[in-house]
Amino acid sequence: MDYVSTRNAGLRVSAAKAIATGIAPDGGLFCPTEIPSLTKADLDALLGMDYKARAAFILGKYLTDFTAEELQDFTQKAYADEKFGGPNTAPVVDLKDGKHILELWHGPTCAFKDMALQMLPHLLTASLKKTGETRTACILVATSGDTGKAALEGFADVPGTKIMVYYPVDGVSPMQKLQMTTQKGDNVEVVAIHGNFDDAQSAVKRIFTDKATAEKMDAQGLMFSSANSINWGRLAPQIAYYVSAYCDMVNAGTIQMGDKINICVPTGNFGNILAGYFAKQMGLPVHKFICASNRNNVLTDFFKNQGTYDRNRPFYTTDSPSMDILISSNLERLLFYISGQNDKVVSDLMGQLSRDGRYSLAKELFEKIAEDFDAGYCDDVQTAETIRKLWDEEHYLADTHTAVAVRVYENYRRTTLDKTPTVIASTASPFKFCRAVVEALGGKLERDDVTQLDVLSQMTGMEAPAPLAALAGKQPRFDRVVPKEGILDTIDLLVKL
Ligand SMILES: *Cc1c(COP(=O)(O)O)cnc(C)c1O
Repeated sequence: MDYVSTRNAGLRVSAAKAIATGIAPDGGLFCPTEIPSLTKADLDALLGMDYKARAAFILGKYLTDFTAEELQDFTQKAYADEKFGGPNTAPVVDLKDGKHILELWHGPTCAFKDMALQMLPHLLTASLKKTGETRTACILVATSGDTGKAALEGFADVPGTKIMVYYPVDGVSPMQKLQMTTQKGDNVEVVAIHGNFDDAQSAVKRIFTDKATAEKMDAQGLMFSSANSINWGRLAPQIAYYVSAYCDMVNAGTIQMGDKINICVPTGNFGNILAGYFAKQMGLPVHKFICASNRNNVLTDFFKNQGTYDRNRPFYTTDSPSMDILISSNLERLLFYISGQNDKVVSDLMGQLSRDGRYSLAKELFEKIAEDFDAGYCDDVQTAETIRKLWDEEHYLADTHTAVAVRVYENYRRTTLDKTPTVIASTASPFKFCRAVVEALGGKLERDDVTQLDVLSQMTGMEAPAPLAALAGKQPRFDRVVPKEGILDTIDLLVKL
């Protein structure tokens, strides 16, 4: 199967090449030229498999230059029981009123990013080999908080790679910051920037597409790659958990094979929900995708305002910081498919976005999107109310991002009367956003964030995940803060590692 750039369909590469490069040289995102199908027989076979086998099966349909043995080996390692607290890598928890919570945060950094970033180092290392690449891959990561730690954890001390993470200095939770700044490994570097996630992501994308920098790196035996969801190797592993959740629901008797589900996702860069869209295009029975946002509701407006995307608006820092994003990169891939893989249309729209900060879709394009997507948002007060209500009424403890999705789903169900069972992606452990969760439950706020974990444990009778509890007393290794214009200069730090 070949991959092309969303901005130049003439640029065809293998899956390995797409993963090794991360982003196309024209700034476009690599996409498969056809979406493989998931037949009824496939789904029946998947019912009897565990998560690792399901993931290898789905990935095999996209990564045709990898062998089944390779992919099985990678998923065994990536989703090892000791990393995900047991064989049930991504469990579904059934709640009231059609809510089926897909918990994606049982991995080592307690957020859903582990589902892809435990796999990516295996995929990337193999891709470098397959493409005959001898240079060291320098992975640049822009993070709104969770990708940074998950990527560091995945790539720390992986031979043939170095990794640099940029995070917004005032835009991540204290726990997220501590997780990143205490990261071990000889090939890692972490830098805070004065700016927000969009600034970091835009700067990183500029570096990727800058010829002069690429040549300088090349002369030193180095190349850039990406661990953000702009990299196909990040997105592909995420398709598997929607299929897996469906199989679990059939096995549990919650639904019958062939029944439709909805999928509701707390969204930032549009990667997670887009992975669900791929699952549907493959043949997974999905009725609607519900795109949930926080107060940075640029996507809600896009879906509600006939496809006008306008990032010219205030940026808010919220209690769900991993969704504080105004430029949702992966929307570009959706536009590519709904336009019939029209690279001209996509480059034109992306040109408008970078020039004017906005674009409007043609009517017939938007109508195609509206068939599949609904959207909504909620603010921090409603998020906190939802955390409290879920705990009081259903004894379910949700983090702030998951709570945004639950709230938006409840609004959707009330206004549409659509009773389709809905998989709600739960993207982080409640302990990762402990302070906001404790506050929502009316508990005592502590000065120290690790002590705060104990408060939540005592209030709920639940144990804090070991990797978070282990942060107690750890000294930060990285304290550099740079202006957002200074990102390019920090590349030297990476080169020297
Ligand atoms: C990254 C993240 C999101 C947003 O996911 P996207 O794929 O960027 O849309 C939501 N919640 C949490 C906890 C995250 O870490």
